[in-house]
Amino acid sequence: MTIRSDQRNMIEAFQQYAPVNVTELAESLGLKVWEDDELPVGVSGKICLDSEFGGSSGYSVIVRASDPFVRRRFTVAHEIAHFLLHKDKIGASLTDDGMYRSRNLSTWEEVEANQLAADILMPMPLISRYINSVGADPATLAALFKVSEQAMRIRLKLPQ
Ligand SMILES: [Zn+2]
Repeated sequence: MTIRSDQRNMIEAFQQYAPVNVTELAESLGLKVWEDDELPVGVSGKICLDSEFGGSSGYSVIVRASDPFVRRRFTVAHEIAHFLLHKDKIGASLTDDGMYRSRNLSTWEEVEANQLAADILMPMPLISRYINSVGADPATLAALFKVSEQAMRIRLKLPQ
């Protein structure tokens, strides 16, 4: 499934500099983002229909409040990806475990969501620009993009 061009343009509007403001991007796409410290054990995040507190699309994204900041950012991007790619399969609610697996979706669809989440947080043209100014050290780039060093190393195709 492809992303609508207006949604693609909105993502690009948030990719002019690092770090990508993923919460504001979510809200621009109609998703209200909440942090919850009472999600069940093993749940990293969810996206659900929320007529009372949801964004303009009617959906809320909920992330585990106690997760590290960079992981919460990745979770928000992952749930955005489900909204853009798999909206028809979310139903009332889609819950991702600690490995970003859900009951609603296949492994391949979860891979697809992780790929789009990485594209959102670490757009290659922006990474290239920062490499030109600060160099290619993955820890430095991860700090600038506010992602985990592991995520940046995957992005740069470096050994883990
Ligand atoms: Zn997922």
